[in-house]
Amino acid sequence: MTAHLPRPRKRLGQHFLIDHNIVRKILDLAALRPDETVLEIGPGRGALTGPLCERAGQVIAIEVDPDLYRHLQATLADRPALDLRLGDALAFPFKTLPTGTVVVANLPYYLSTPLLFALLEARECLSRLVVMVQTEVARRIVAAPGHADYGVLSVLLQCWTSPTLAFRVSPTCVRPRPDVGSSVLAVRIRSEPAAPISDTQHFTRVVRAAFAHRRKTVTNSLRDEGFAQEAVQAALPQAGVAPGRRAETLSILEFAALAETLASRTNPRSNS
Ligand code: SAM
Repeated sequence: MTAHLPRPRKRLGQHFLIDHNIVRKILDLAALRPDETVLEIGPGRGALTGPLCERAGQVIAIEVDPDLYRHLQATLADRPALDLRLGDALAFPFKTLPTGTVVVANLPYYLSTPLLFALLEARECLSRLVVMVQTEVARRIVAAPGHADYGVLSVLLQCWTSPTLAFRVSPTCVRPRPDVGSSVLAVRIRSEPAAPISDTQHFTRVVRAAFAHRRKTVTNSLRDEGFAQEAVQAALPQAGVAPGRRAETLSILEFAALAETLASRTNPRSNS
């Protein structure tokens, strides 16, 4: 008996995987062990959820759409590994997940960036992520310094994880067919950040401020975002960054050095 399928809701980013080969490639990439916990954001019609339940010890799946939630309750009732939740993933307390949780998801595009930042905050509970996102977002995540796609997302993700673009997914593999292509990322959480960072919040603030005015120099962008010009002018050479450079040319190590020297100038006690 086939259960009635709820109609796709565009505003919830509902583009369902219909290609078994892509599902298999995502599962191969996740390389789950039977004792692992999986977090799936947006199980949708369950294209990934059922196979995930066969491979992992526990699958926590959060769906915001009540119709899809009921559909999954009915179709996956025989999966003891499934812990299905109804709700907004952005409101989910990711920090309560078991240590070593693996995130496997075809993320709703309209929410992929805030969700990735929220997951990054909970990185201590996570071991790796295999996520399908818009190709444009995937490119930004893996971009290197000097590339037009390099920005806040690249620096913050690459600082605490090592992301790779594993493969592309054609719009024909998804229904309703999206206007843009997708890509699957394999993201491993680093045991140590890519650069020494003593104050994560301050580092994040510096990175965001540096990129806030992309066409300006780091000096001017930081100044326009409220950092004292004198402190910035003194910190840049100390961090080995020429004042005329733009944020998109700075490596993670340079951002970290700049954040550290700025912190010691704006808050002398932070170095003690
Ligand atoms: N995993 C399914 C698949 O691959 O076919 C569906 C993926 S679809 C791109 C995104 C899913 O995320 C949809 O089921 C949508 O309802 C759900 N979703 C959208 N916003 C959400 C939110 N804030 N919290 C949880 N799920 C959400």
